[in-house]
Amino acid sequence: MNDDQRTRREILRGAGAALLLPVLPAFVVGCKKDLACTDTTGLAPEKVALRTTMEYVDATPNPTKTCANCQLFKPAAPDACGECSLVPGPIHPKGYCKSWTEKAG
Ligand code: SF4
Repeated sequence: MNDDQRTRREILRGAGAALLLPVLPAFVVGCKKDLACTDTTGLAPEKVALRTTMEYVDATPNPTKTCANCQLFKPAAPDACGECSLVPGPIHPKGYCKSWTEKAG
């Protein structure tokens, strides 16, 4: 390998890094961690038990029935846990429980 080849390789490597650097932050932001609404810290034990009794889950087993289209869901900001007028604690928009009620209108 002569000095000209090494120089060309170094230039190409540097150009590749220069092209990737502006894209990297957008990629990292795009890989946002999945929303989880399972933190019951601070809830009284009977409220945690009610979540269990209602069989609340963060991921609905039936895509046509989600908390987001339930009458009892109170949405929060986009990509955030909402609330429910029946089940205490954080509620995932794509969650579900056995008291799902079709949203009116
Ligand atoms: Fe979700 Fe059940 Fe509350 Fe409806 S009642 S928003 S399905 S937790």
